[in-house]
Amino acid sequence: MTKDFIATPNRTKEILRKYGFSFKKSLGQNFIIDSNILQKMIHAAKIDKMSGVIEIGPGIGSLTEQLALAANKVIAFEIDQRLLPVLQDTLAAYTNIKIIHQDILKADLHKTIKQYFTSNLSLHIVANLPYYITTPILMNILQQQIPVERITVMLQKEVAERMAAGPNTKEYGSLSIAVQYYTEAHIVMDVPKTVFIPQPNVTSSVLQLVKRDSPLVQVTDEQLFFFIVQASFRHRRKTLRNNLINSFKDRYPVDRITNVLERTEIDGGRRGESLAIQEFALLANQFSEAEFKL
Ligand code: SAM
Repeated sequence: MTKDFIATPNRTKEILRKYGFSFKKSLGQNFIIDSNILQKMIHAAKIDKMSGVIEIGPGIGSLTEQLALAANKVIAFEIDQRLLPVLQDTLAAYTNIKIIHQDILKADLHKTIKQYFTSNLSLHIVANLPYYITTPILMNILQQQIPVERITVMLQKEVAERMAAGPNTKEYGSLSIAVQYYTEAHIVMDVPKTVFIPQPNVTSSVLQLVKRDSPLVQVTDEQLFFFIVQASFRHRRKTLRNNLINSFKDRYPVDRITNVLERTEIDGGRRGESLAIQEFALLANQFSEAEFKL
């Protein structure tokens, strides 16, 4: 059966030829030609017939097809109008797919979910993301509190590693904290360039984000928390104390900044990359209690 799937070299080439399709690099168009990889991804995502799935960027339908076979319903957002007739053709056999022609960054996913999914379904995002906007897509979904259980996506290995990183690694930074504040993040597998047409310049990974019921830490001022996180990583070689002074000094006197830091009992001589999320929360809550505002 495998030979008939869209995600095979022959079928993909045949579809591209039939429609005279030319890839737009600017839209991150790299299509998967290996259905085994997609099935592994869907298995890791725990998709079953009680799952409603939102896909971002169906392309010619390689992943969409596998999702339609495994899930109850699939809603896929595609920005490239040229792909609409292609998808209508390649996915004609499936009745549980809805393609929406829209930029995912402009989509109202709360509305989409209400409109297309019944309340008994568990909701998921599964996608081979357009790599030029990986971070804005994921951060939008997390910050807007889209009610999905799991997000299982293919993206650049380097970005996946940053999102899943823990303290004291070179990958750990404000992106790791932003993602892990909302989710539990882990890398499912690496994906070689050879399973794409055209081959991307970078190695890819499948990353899974499991939504937390509530954020990992409780902070009194979220904006201040993320500001302090950003500030602490601004100059990675500098100490926490120096980074905080640099970021707050236009607003507050230096002795007030160092006083608050001392009250946390976190050593200001440490580097930001050594702090766990809980320590950043402690810092932020102490600054908030001292009435630091942005
Ligand atoms: N899912 C297909 C696959 O795995 O073979 C294609 C994945 S390809 C990496 C990314 C897809 O996202 C392309 O089809 C591209 O046109 C689409 N895309 C790019 N930017 C988008 C955006 N802002 N909103 C929705 N889709 C977008």
